[in-house]
Amino acid sequence: MLQEEERKYIINTYNRQKGATPLLVRGQGSRVWDENGKEYLDFVGGIAVNALGHCYPPILEAVSRQMEKIIHTSNLYYSEPQVELARMLVENSPAGKVFFANSGAEANEAAIKLARKYTKQRFGRERYEIVTALDSFHGRTLATITATGQEKFHRGFEPLVPGFRYARFNDLNSFRAQINSYTCAIMVEPVQGEGGIHVATPEFLQGLRRLCDEHNLLLIFDEIQCGMGRTGKLFAFEHYHVVPDIFTLAKALGGGLPIGAMLCTEEVAGGFSPGDHASTFGGNPVACAAATAAVGTLLNEGFLELVRQNSAFLLGELERLQGIFPGLIKEIRGKGFMLGLEIGSEAVEIRMHCQDRGLLINCIGGEVLRLLPPLNTKKDELVAALGILEGVLQDWVGKNA
Ligand SMILES: *Cc1c(COP(=O)(O)O)cnc(C)c1O
Repeated sequence: MLQEEERKYIINTYNRQKGATPLLVRGQGSRVWDENGKEYLDFVGGIAVNALGHCYPPILEAVSRQMEKIIHTSNLYYSEPQVELARMLVENSPAGKVFFANSGAEANEAAIKLARKYTKQRFGRERYEIVTALDSFHGRTLATITATGQEKFHRGFEPLVPGFRYARFNDLNSFRAQINSYTCAIMVEPVQGEGGIHVATPEFLQGLRRLCDEHNLLLIFDEIQCGMGRTGKLFAFEHYHVVPDIFTLAKALGGGLPIGAMLCTEEVAGGFSPGDHASTFGGNPVACAAATAAVGTLLNEGFLELVRQNSAFLLGELERLQGIFPGLIKEIRGKGFMLGLEIGSEAVEIRMHCQDRGLLINCIGGEVLRLLPPLNTKKDELVAALGILEGVLQDWVGKNA
């Protein structure tokens, strides 16, 4: 049995549960199938990775075309797919330059290292502290768990990396209070993901920009989950008319292949010199080819407009369900196709019932249901998913009346 073999050979970090966790073997668009041929609507999407659904034809084609040419070259050499992707990202964002990594945590590591190095170079003295938000999530490496303002990710891994302070999300005064002569940057997610889907207010992000300008700090946005069209704009910060000095991407960037990116202004990019940072696989040609196809799709005429329309439809329908089940859906938060339903302790079981009926959604912190449908999910698939959720809530209320 595969499940027993997994327990035997793989370190138990993911808490997969026999009988409760399907083995997914095939995917197409917004649907996946398990080993028994059972079909699910996949509104987890690899946690915001499969933003164009499974086996999206332009990504398959880009990957196989690149695989036949060359799969890997070292960063000792020039790379065509890297330059093509970099040009696309830079031309469609406020950034001037990009560094390629393989994951979100690595993109954030690059951002943290660059903020320190640039600041030291520019101001010629020790300035290395970064203020991040409570309930944030920035990754699982030592520096990025430290940047993550949630104690549960720290426990057991001390001593943590020095140089991080925490402030309350959406509370400008709380951030201001953490700034001192050692601060070099402020880093936040415009929409917090793992922390429970919390959306930044415009006053907060615009206020952070002003704070950074007043104190000569770098503003870093972690767009790893909320970027790449997820909120209906290519980058979530576009909703706020705030431009960061550095921002990071990963998850959906590669259309399912592992790639991360750290983008920054031309000026800040000067903080890194040859030898300062590197990654063997970073900017791998196949991953870059996939990412180029993914970004190209998001940039297609009308694509993001349709995301905004369909996600507004989904939100409206969820609000209708909240009207019917106010005791179960306590709050709806999010932007675009990044939505969280505040449920409470029932969330775990509701997620399970949805899975039984063919809808995969994710539960964060045991209390919030997170919906991350592919950006190109068809309207009838949204309707089908809503039907499953409504049925589950209906039966829950019936049984617990
Ligand atoms: C997932 C995530 C990360 C970490 O990305 P990995 O690829 O798992 O290292 C960092 N920040 C945010 C906001 C994320 O959602």
